[in-house]
Amino acid sequence: MSDQPLEAPWLRRATIDLGAYRANLRHLQEVVAPAELMAIVKADAYGHGAVPIAHAAAEAGVEWLGVLELANAHELRAAGVSLNLFAWQYAPTETFERAVSERIDLGISTLAQLDAVATAVTSVARAAAPDAGEGTPVDLPGLVHLSLDTGLHRDGATSDEWEAIVTRAVELASRGILRLRGVYSHLAEASDEEDTDAAVALTEAVGRAAELGARFERRHLTASSAGMERPELRLDMVRMGSNTYGIPVTDGVSAADRGLVPVMTLSARVARVKRIAAGTGVSYDYTWRAPQETTVALVPIGYADGIPRASQLGVGDVGAVGAVGASVALGGKRYPIVGRVAMDQFLIDVGDDAVAVGDEVTLFGTGAGGELTVGEWADLIGTIGEELCCDIGARVPRVYVP
Ligand SMILES: *Cc1c(COP(=O)(O)O)cnc(C)c1O
Repeated sequence: MSDQPLEAPWLRRATIDLGAYRANLRHLQEVVAPAELMAIVKADAYGHGAVPIAHAAAEAGVEWLGVLELANAHELRAAGVSLNLFAWQYAPTETFERAVSERIDLGISTLAQLDAVATAVTSVARAAAPDAGEGTPVDLPGLVHLSLDTGLHRDGATSDEWEAIVTRAVELASRGILRLRGVYSHLAEASDEEDTDAAVALTEAVGRAAELGARFERRHLTASSAGMERPELRLDMVRMGSNTYGIPVTDGVSAADRGLVPVMTLSARVARVKRIAAGTGVSYDYTWRAPQETTVALVPIGYADGIPRASQLGVGDVGAVGAVGASVALGGKRYPIVGRVAMDQFLIDVGDDAVAVGDEVTLFGTGAGGELTVGEWADLIGTIGEELCCDIGARVPRVYVP
């Protein structure tokens, strides 16, 4: 992804409002206090650009970033980000040396991962001080957060595996090789009752771990949804992604209802304008034909940039998917996407309005210019705002408003 100055000539771009991001973070920190807020910046900060977003998070006073992968953690360290960085998805052959050297916090859900971290700690210590004897305290212990599966059936340790993993972690911690920085799980968000059961399972597992001698520095469980709706489940830290980008996650709740502002505005400039006769088909397969004489405008952004084909206004053979379709804003007015969304472009029907080449089209944003928010666009086509933001391609330059 390329960053681009605001004033450069442009065809399509995603404007990232870092002030809105910082304001969202400050608001969310107040909401979840006294719990801490971990800002999730995985997937290149949900398509917003991890490095500028991480620096903005630091400015807003956040102390924890969730990165998912070690490659992202290393990228942020290289960019000078000194916050706590939490990773939790690894290659099966991961060796963790660099993670230990760079003080990355590690979500751990298997004995094999725990042992690999311990081996890495020893090897980093030996490289730093080859003459140190057995039992010399290490400068860089592994920073681990044990992960428990409380029902999502993804990466956490099962309750059968829990005792063995905790026992090993306690032993390594007693030798100074690890710090038990946290214990955590992730909710399925299928129902309040099931989330409550998951929280109880985590609490019980922490109790069993305490009997085995484990004292964790913090417990974390909730993300954007339960972190907002279920204060009693916040524990010591809440991991939020969607909310921080102003993407509401609860049905029927807008960002504004939550005191949040959408951070990404996606726009493009009209590339051609054509007058067409009634009955004229446009774009591939002629899935839309003009009901009367009208003007269509070409918007140069397509599915290669992350605009789903399902965004078009559905007519004839399109069927249920895209039956409503998304619309874009131009000059404060909404216009529907007509015909197939192609790889690099789509058309909008602007009727008899005077639209010119170079006019700015907003696909989604805050709504202030009459455009849809990303959450509204997603609702219309049966997906979620996070998916749309994450899919905005590398061909769309990100432009940062400081
Ligand atoms: C992605 C993720 C989050 C953040 O989820 P949001 O719903 O975007 O807030 C939190 N925790 C884990 C483990 C995740 O994978």
